[in-house]
Amino acid sequence: VLGACYSRVKPTPVAAPRLVAYSPEAVQLLDLSEKTCTSSHFAQVFAGNRLLTGMDPYATCYGGHQFGHWAGQLGDGRAINLGEVINGRAERWALQLKGAGPTPYARTADGLAVLRSSIREFLCSEAMFHLGVPTTRALSLVLTGELVERDMFYDGHPRREPGAVVCRLAPSFTRFGSFQIFAARGEADILRQLLDYTIETDFPALGPPSPEVYLRWFEEVCRRTAELMVHWMRVGFVHGVMNTDNMSILGLTIDYGPYGWLEDYDPNWTPNTTDAATRRYRFGHQPQVALWNLARLAEALTPLIQPTAPLERALSAYQDRFQQGWQTMMGHKLGLKAFVAGRDEALVGELLSILSLVETDMTIFFRRLALVPGDTQSAAAAGDEALMAPLMAAYYRPKQLTAAVRGRIGSWLWAYTRRVGQDGTPDALRRERMNAVNPKYVLRNYLAQLAIDKAEAGDFAMVSELLDLLRRPYDEQPGRETFAQKRPEWARHRPGCSMLSCSS
Ligand code: AMP
Ligand code: MG
Repeated sequence: VLGACYSRVKPTPVAAPRLVAYSPEAVQLLDLSEKTCTSSHFAQVFAGNRLLTGMDPYATCYGGHQFGHWAGQLGDGRAINLGEVINGRAERWALQLKGAGPTPYARTADGLAVLRSSIREFLCSEAMFHLGVPTTRALSLVLTGELVERDMFYDGHPRREPGAVVCRLAPSFTRFGSFQIFAARGEADILRQLLDYTIETDFPALGPPSPEVYLRWFEEVCRRTAELMVHWMRVGFVHGVMNTDNMSILGLTIDYGPYGWLEDYDPNWTPNTTDAATRRYRFGHQPQVALWNLARLAEALTPLIQPTAPLERALSAYQDRFQQGWQTMMGHKLGLKAFVAGRDEALVGELLSILSLVETDMTIFFRRLALVPGDTQSAAAAGDEALMAPLMAAYYRPKQLTAAVRGRIGSWLWAYTRRVGQDGTPDALRRERMNAVNPKYVLRNYLAQLAIDKAEAGDFAMVSELLDLLRRPYDEQPGRETFAQKRPEWARHRPGCSMLSCSS
């Protein structure tokens, strides 16, 4: 599609729309009542069967670097924008159906989405929001009543799966690749038009577009991206496919595909089987990949921003900002009053070492660390074993906890206790602070898969239960502790729990 930012296209009607779930919080963003959501009209609209007055659907053109290589035009191949709602608080929310049929950007694909990937997108979008991580939102999950063929691991085993449509919401779905495509094609006029529009619509605080404001805008994208990376590292989220077409200019998590949650803390882990060879999108590499992606965006802006030295400075500011943000965040995770540069690096460095030493559940470890006493006297009275006791629930293979390993963890815990003691924060207050940044409940990979298994058998109760559970990820939620436990052994190598692909 040449010479255009978008193409008008209508969703393809489906046989039998049926609402599976909606997010009560997302519903409020549109000033809708929950009663509206359970009407058959709602399911018809959010399956793409009916358009409401004012809807003028379109799909956008974008390109992107996939796994480090320029892939040319991609575009909304199965996403159709219905329009935008300005709510009572004057917020603008764009509505987008994912899986509502092919568009001019679908290439040879079908424009559809299956239930399993739609459940994953729906639940994770809302879970991330409640965790305080910038993200696109999910309004609804609707079954289409039609089957869609997918070869999940691209290995010649296609299966017919239930089709579904998610309606997602964001102030804007514009991606790094939305700019790249016009730079790559030498369409500088459209590039400028898109950037002017973006600044006026999504970044009005920057002022009217000008070459200076273009630079301010890029700096702002860098800032937001750095913050997003800090959040992902805080909660243990691995996006899995950080191609430049999956990077939001608003710094939102976007395009929930083969993402995963760290179970045992392994910076080299990637959930995406397509990424297994090089592990480009592994957990610990995400901040670097974001920088690489920002550099590709900077390149795309060079027709509009000259000279380019300030762009380079913005990229190096990204690194500083990420590093600082990460240290501050780690200080919060540890319940410190503040991360003290020049002093706390060793404590955090050794922490990351002991987390990788044996299989340690990241979420459980940090949550339970809040229970370790923060004054050396009571710690000494309790002894090494007692100091470590709250953390035992985090270890996957107790046999790995040899005397040497225990010794190293014990030493770190002593250092931690001393450090926390210096702050003098009462334990109860430290615990409260830590519990506000270290979630108890995340969308563990196997939990999502269990909900999918049940949903494919026609039982959607677990989808609703997880949606509800993940609305309060930092609360204890008595009676729901099983959802906070370690991944069970059966899920260690099960497809969907530990291995995912881009097929969705
Ligand atoms: P993703 O890996 O999900 O970010 O998708 C990369 C590109 O492929 C985007 O342009 C998508 O719109 C497109 N795409 C993925 N799946 C489909 C599908 N089933 N039909 C049409 N386009 C698709
Ligand atoms: Mg994508």
